[in-house]
Amino acid sequence: MTLVHGTQVHGVDVDTETRCSHYDTERDVIAIRFPCCDEFYPCYRCHDAVADHPREAWPEIKRAAEAVLCGVCGAELMIAEYLACNSQCPECDAGFNPGCAEHYELYFEG
Ligand SMILES: [Zn+2]
Ligand SMILES: [Zn+2]
Ligand SMILES: [Zn+2]
Repeated sequence: MTLVHGTQVHGVDVDTETRCSHYDTERDVIAIRFPCCDEFYPCYRCHDAVADHPREAWPEIKRAAEAVLCGVCGAELMIAEYLACNSQCPECDAGFNPGCAEHYELYFEG
């Protein structure tokens, strides 16, 4: 477990801006709160590596849940804000990895 701006983030080799052993480029700076356990992980592979239960994705009706943590400024973004942010933190303008959009469905249904 690593503290990121005071928020606990679980996973494998998590750094203080939420990079992990699976995604560790300069722009890999978000963590996702998973609805199955209410815990933040940098990626689905971290969840699968350390959680003791099957992973769940957020249902479409939960777009107002604050489920995305910016590792640069510590802001907790609503899912709707994150999906609309065009890979840039609305709070601090940090760039997020645009490649994450290729597997949104692992985190967010709909
Ligand atoms: Zn979980
Ligand atoms: Zn990971
Ligand atoms: Zn930010």
